[in-house]
Amino acid sequence: MILSPSLYNAGVCHLEQTLSDIEKAGAQYLHVDILDNTFVPSLSFGPKIVKDLKKMTDLVLDVHMMVDTPENCVADFCQAGADIVTVHYEATSHLGYTIQEIKKHHAKVGVAINPATPVCVIEPVLQDVDQVLVMTINPGRSGQKLILSTLDKIRELVQIRNAKNLHFDIQVDGNITPDNVEKVLDAGANVIVSGGGIFNEHPICENIQKFFEVEK
Ligand code: ZN
Repeated sequence: MILSPSLYNAGVCHLEQTLSDIEKAGAQYLHVDILDNTFVPSLSFGPKIVKDLKKMTDLVLDVHMMVDTPENCVADFCQAGADIVTVHYEATSHLGYTIQEIKKHHAKVGVAINPATPVCVIEPVLQDVDQVLVMTINPGRSGQKLILSTLDKIRELVQIRNAKNLHFDIQVDGNITPDNVEKVLDAGANVIVSGGGIFNEHPICENIQKFFEVEK
């Protein structure tokens, strides 16, 4: 399991300490949610913070673009130092071009699908991506529970990956906690995003440990 704690939930107070705690606890990625107030409500970070983070940490910068027409700005995030750039199928009419733009700038490529979007629509690009992000809640809306029908989509992706001998990671994002992570791991996900499951009233290290204990 690769754990990708979400910076949006961590906030930027005591950022250096937060990054250090995440690294020490054994998480490998830092999930950076980009909200554009169009594809999803509210705003978060721009490329500048990615550039700053790159200087501050060795964690893999896992940038999730919840942004309309991402083809207009993926290059900026790649150049800022994003290691993985994930774009939504629903956010662009030019998914193939967007994927090529990310590759051209030497970042790994992810494609994300919302809970109501079927796997079949991204099948033509699966050979070109490093990661598929299955949203387990509707993006940008807080207070939701994990949508169980998304587990079937994870299983479907595993089947396709095996049948076609592909190698993409399967990431999940949306209210994943130590209490429900076993469900997504059993279905076949291997990259776990968590915000509230890691950044809450308990210490970060303790929360990350809880995720890894489930895997044992
Ligand atoms: Zn995300």
